[in-house]
Amino acid sequence: MCNDYAELKPSERLLLGPGPSNADPRVLRAMAAPLVGHLDPEFLQIMNDNMSLLRYVFQTKNELTMAMSGTGSAGMETVFVNLVEPGDKVVVCVNGVFGQRMVDVAQRAGAEVTVVNAPWGQIIEAAEVKKAVESVKPKLVAIVHAETSTGILQPLEEISAICKEADCLLVVDCVTSLGGVEVKIDEWGIDAAYSGTQKCLSCPPGLAPVTFNEKARAVINKRKNKVQSWYLDLTMIQNYWGQERFYHHTAPISMGYALRECLRVIYEEGLEARFARHKLNAEALKAGLKAMGFKLYAQEGRQLPSLTTAWIPEGVEDASTRKFLLNKYNIEIGGGLGEGKGKVWRFGLMGHNSTEKNVLTLLTALEAAFVYQGKTVEPGAGIAAALEVYKNK
Ligand SMILES: *Cc1c(COP(=O)(O)O)cnc(C)c1O
Repeated sequence: MCNDYAELKPSERLLLGPGPSNADPRVLRAMAAPLVGHLDPEFLQIMNDNMSLLRYVFQTKNELTMAMSGTGSAGMETVFVNLVEPGDKVVVCVNGVFGQRMVDVAQRAGAEVTVVNAPWGQIIEAAEVKKAVESVKPKLVAIVHAETSTGILQPLEEISAICKEADCLLVVDCVTSLGGVEVKIDEWGIDAAYSGTQKCLSCPPGLAPVTFNEKARAVINKRKNKVQSWYLDLTMIQNYWGQERFYHHTAPISMGYALRECLRVIYEEGLEARFARHKLNAEALKAGLKAMGFKLYAQEGRQLPSLTTAWIPEGVEDASTRKFLLNKYNIEIGGGLGEGKGKVWRFGLMGHNSTEKNVLTLLTALEAAFVYQGKTVEPGAGIAAALEVYKNK
């Protein structure tokens, strides 16, 4: 029998969209290490390291802090299936695709969902959450910290205070903020949160870090009904990550290595330096885009450092331009989602990818794409504006 299948040779893409982002080369090397068993003492030590490093990036002391097997959406599902029982009242804030996904997941877990809507590209106002909480008296409020579909960074402290006063849980989606933007679980009073490895942690998709404080944990351990998902049931999984080390499912070993390495990279850089880097590169990118005639999509002053959204300029075609960038320069950018489809581009500068070199590369490639399409653009205007930001930092 002949072998019709060619050797696997994925292109070396620069992933400047909404995720996945490029993994740090150290992470990819760690993944090539030999496998050990999932109850091997060496792997148990790696799990312990991952728990304590995750506490560092989540800025929490929560004991129940670990990585679920699956992508960011598995983290979302973990939080809802464990905290919600059929008939529970839940308030979900929706100003983009991921808020909408939370509504769907919460409803499938049996929640009676009340939605607090805000226009896409805007934050959720705390006063709106307060109104909903007062009338619904929910068991929990769920909100997205970094809305990757719109590029909004949601302030959380005021909403947390509202939840404390009403004695309901606050659940936060930190998928595109963790490792790129400040996430202070304890200081901000967040009861449960989840993330994913493939965005600002610069690790391949495959694990979903989660953290629950004691209040949330007590809610899980006092459930009347079994958790509807066997695979994501924390009442069982906490016994694998805890002292007992009970077998539940086989941990994805190589992803465990990858997570440890990406968290080590973050620990070495330090959170403050990492957040400052994301901010600076986002500022430079935004300056460059504006100089090239782009208008930003997300609300001024609430723009996310890890993901910038901009309206596609007049006379530029969405799909063919993105295809051009991919085929000619190996650069992936994100198209719009939901309401922004065909109208907005999403530029991710996440983790390892948030660099001056990538900002200048992206602006140059965009200018080239415009020139090839016959759109007039002042040569070098984007680069010059970005460099101005770097020179003045
Ligand atoms: C990417 C993302 C998710 C889903 O993560 P997957 O890894 O795609 O499953 C959830 N929430 C937000 C805000 C995201 O950006």
